[in-house]
Amino acid sequence: MATDLQEKLKLGPREGFQYPIIVPYCGNCTMPIEYCEYYPEYEKCKKWLEKNLPSEFAKLNVGSEATGGSVGEKAETGSAEDDEKKRQKRGGKGMIKANKKKDDSDKEKKITVSRAPRGKKKSVTVVTGMSTFGIDLKAATKFFGTKFACGSSVTGDDEIVIQGDVKDELFDIIPEKWPEIDEDYIEDLGDQKR
Ligand SMILES: [Zn+2]
Repeated sequence: MATDLQEKLKLGPREGFQYPIIVPYCGNCTMPIEYCEYYPEYEKCKKWLEKNLPSEFAKLNVGSEATGGSVGEKAETGSAEDDEKKRQKRGGKGMIKANKKKDDSDKEKKITVSRAPRGKKKSVTVVTGMSTFGIDLKAATKFFGTKFACGSSVTGDDEIVIQGDVKDELFDIIPEKWPEIDEDYIEDLGDQKR
């Protein structure tokens, strides 16, 4: 044990290394070549390396965006592929997020009101989404009929048609009758074209 430790701590040349260790210096900037890339005239350094230390120049090009040489081209192709993957990943995430948002809004409590033409001069008012607040459509129809003294009927899954243009009044009357429905839950779809 003690002998092993002493062996490890022993100073001096070790096996597997060639001595003296030669640090290649750049003839352009005079720095060890690993620092060349931080030197403002890196392009000149590379030219010097290409001429004087071709083997070191080849190493520099690996994994860098350096110019020229088949090694450099390979590195560039690799990074381009990485970029492509990143883009696709970002795109995919975005799509998922968008879809999720859409699903949520479908489940949202929301009432829409719109005006639809009926005959030459008359309009009807279409109300959808009452059941998203748990309101009985038949009861609502009856209420609208009484309130506006006009015909009102259930015309779809969650759709009520009131005979007459009462769209603007609904923004006051619905929250008044059903306090849980804030005016902000009612969306004005404007005029329907048929
Ligand atoms: Zn240099």
